[in-house]
Amino acid sequence: MGKGLYPDLWVRSAYDIDYEGLMERGLAGVIFDIDNTLVLPDEPCDDRARALFAKLHGLGLKTCILSNNTGKRASDFAGEAGSPVVTGALKPFPGKYKEAVEKLGLLPSQVFFVGDQIYTDIWGANNAGLYSVLTVPFTYKEEPQIVLKRKLEKPVIAGLKKRFKAPLQG
Ligand SMILES: [Mg+2]
Repeated sequence: MGKGLYPDLWVRSAYDIDYEGLMERGLAGVIFDIDNTLVLPDEPCDDRARALFAKLHGLGLKTCILSNNTGKRASDFAGEAGSPVVTGALKPFPGKYKEAVEKLGLLPSQVFFVGDQIYTDIWGANNAGLYSVLTVPFTYKEEPQIVLKRKLEKPVIAGLKKRFKAPLQG
């Protein structure tokens, strides 16, 4: 189990994950961040994301989307992806992660989380007792508060580079 700021797994992208392999390890549900994890920040759901959700549902993997966003964006995205959603997440606090796990009808130990930010996505997933998967963000052109968090991520990324062969970032 990942601890604190450190993910269990570090991958290039949500589109690169061995989902079947994780299911073989007993994981039955996945919760996704949206921005910079599934699409570029503020972009709508696209064909690639729709195809990913269709594939996962075909495999029998349950999905949920968890977003700090409180507006229509997250629910529109989830509607396009055909997935349930929990908004206003306040990551890294574990409350809404637990709500998402309940929506999946699973136990925390059966669920993994996929997101691009260490101080929100990964820390929160670890706080909630989920298996955590960190992705490399699609872009570093982000809002000022995220740019600050990316600076804080650097020591953690340095640690990850020692622990995981790939992918490299920053
Ligand atoms: Mg994100």
